[in-house]
Amino acid sequence: MTTFQELGLNEALLKAVADLGFEKPSEIQDKAIPVLLSDDTDIVALAQTGTGKTAAFGFPLIQKTDFNNRQTQGLILSPTRELCMQIANELKLYAKHIPEFKSVAIYGGASISDQAAQVRRGAHVIVATPGRMQDMINRKMVDISNIRYCILDEADEMLNMGFYEDITNILSFTPENKNTWLFSATMPQEVSTIAKRFMKNPVEITIGSKNTSAKNIEHEFYVIQGRDRYIALKRLADVNPDIFSLVFCRTKRDTQQVAEKLIEDGYSAAALHGDLSQSQRDTVMKSFRGKQIQMLVATDVAARGIDVDDITHVINYQLPDEIETYTHRSGRTGRAGKSGVSMVIIAKSEVRKIKSIERIIKQTFKQKDIPTGIEICEVQLLHLANKIKQTHINHEIDRYLPTLQDLFVDDSKDELIKKFFSVEFTRFFDYYKKSKDINTQVATFKDFGDSESRSGGSVRYFINLGDRDGFDWMQLKDFLRESLELGRDDVYKVDVKDSFSFFNVDASHADKVTTFFENFAFKGRRVHIELSQNESKGRFSGGGRGESRGKGFSEGRRSKDFKKPSFGNNFDPAKKKDFGKKEKWSKKKY
Ligand code: ADP
Ligand code: MG
Repeated sequence: MTTFQELGLNEALLKAVADLGFEKPSEIQDKAIPVLLSDDTDIVALAQTGTGKTAAFGFPLIQKTDFNNRQTQGLILSPTRELCMQIANELKLYAKHIPEFKSVAIYGGASISDQAAQVRRGAHVIVATPGRMQDMINRKMVDISNIRYCILDEADEMLNMGFYEDITNILSFTPENKNTWLFSATMPQEVSTIAKRFMKNPVEITIGSKNTSAKNIEHEFYVIQGRDRYIALKRLADVNPDIFSLVFCRTKRDTQQVAEKLIEDGYSAAALHGDLSQSQRDTVMKSFRGKQIQMLVATDVAARGIDVDDITHVINYQLPDEIETYTHRSGRTGRAGKSGVSMVIIAKSEVRKIKSIERIIKQTFKQKDIPTGIEICEVQLLHLANKIKQTHINHEIDRYLPTLQDLFVDDSKDELIKKFFSVEFTRFFDYYKKSKDINTQVATFKDFGDSESRSGGSVRYFINLGDRDGFDWMQLKDFLRESLELGRDDVYKVDVKDSFSFFNVDASHADKVTTFFENFAFKGRRVHIELSQNESKGRFSGGGRGESRGKGFSEGRRSKDFKKPSFGNNFDPAKKKDFGKKEKWSKKKY
């Protein structure tokens, strides 16, 4: 294992590395930093988003800067204002122990004369969007005629956004003998064109294979009827209580509408698109980063700059017009070594597009079912239960204990538990008890995932093992198959949540399951399984009376009175309110 010391970083940078808490270099850092430090060479470096490319060029750039020279020596071009600010911030952190280092970020939507003034005060490194850079060159507000390093960061995104002309133009103002460092997640044609045209014998570093999306992202698709799209979105959110997501729509109008509906329905959501003013966008991004927004609904263009590490789900509310854009969307999750899920909600007619996407990302999709109402209720209930189990007791309550004891003196523990959970559960339950199955069967996609039809009936189980125990759905499936000595497809519909999961087996295997888990411990903890009410005709299934398929009932209409309870999620309602007041882009406050 290489350390940052071994890469050749100087003392000041190593101190910053320690402050940042980086333990070891990422792969791209490991490969790129030594080359950039020791040679004066052009470089083309390809690595997934979230793999630490900023530091891969940032550290060498700072170390190679001559602080006795006031001139601008490095230019970093980056596609969006967001990214520029982020890179500039990162550079400041890297140069924390080098007070003489000066960098300036220049981008549109802020005062150009302020930025020019900052540049005049000294900028060893300029971090710029191509548009604003071009503008400042035209107005002679910057001088890049002596730069030694030009970095094209997120080159694929810049070209995607149509900056080819700007970039070639900007490069024409830079000296011949500089070095160009190109960093990109993917290598489409235009990127290799840039590399061929503007770079001399670049060293090529590729982490992973070109153009594939990260392996720690799972891709799922859900087939519904077009009119159920919004309901599907809500259910996907409800079945993932801790969701922190980016929802992609195709147009600004859809983006705004979906966000507004979500807000109306009580979700902490916001829209991000080009019709918002810069300050509105900043506020949204700040709230998203601060996790006061759980679902950020965005257009592709507006989302380009989003570089938030903990996004758990990317939801393709609609597929992008250009299939290639899917890679960029899904790459917003699964960053910085975390795992993520990219979900696609599609109508039957679009299913074939999934195949094309699979060819591009070189990964397969899993077809999944939109959860039923009762499944959502179960997940929410168990999520809340687990949260309560882990809750740190606030001893301020102690002095009220005698009063509370008195009040509940006649309630058994069972009753107390039931009452306690009913407070939240009933709201979800009442909303979902009459909801219908909105999945559309796609006959031609039998080979996808786990949605095969089964003859002898199927049983669904709850098990108290989950992500926290180190399982993803595939590992849990394997674990169950092996433990139960079942065949390859005998365990299906495996859904892993944080501390628990669900899975199906055919009814004929039910005895095996019960017997095996009768007395089973995992890492010293008793493993419980339980029949889930979801698939069986239990109390909750709401069949017969009050069926929801009939006329006069639609989830869409009902949603007006349904305010999503903040059911055991981690989002601070106090913050939410505060945030709602400040902004205009939603009609309703939440
Ligand atoms: P990329 O440009 O490849 O998309 P970033 O440079 O934005 O990725 O880095 C993603 C995240 O990983 C950032 O939060 C960054 O601080 C963090 N990071 C970078 N290098 C390391 C490292 N060596 N160890 C731990 N975290 C790192
Ligand atoms: Mg980057």
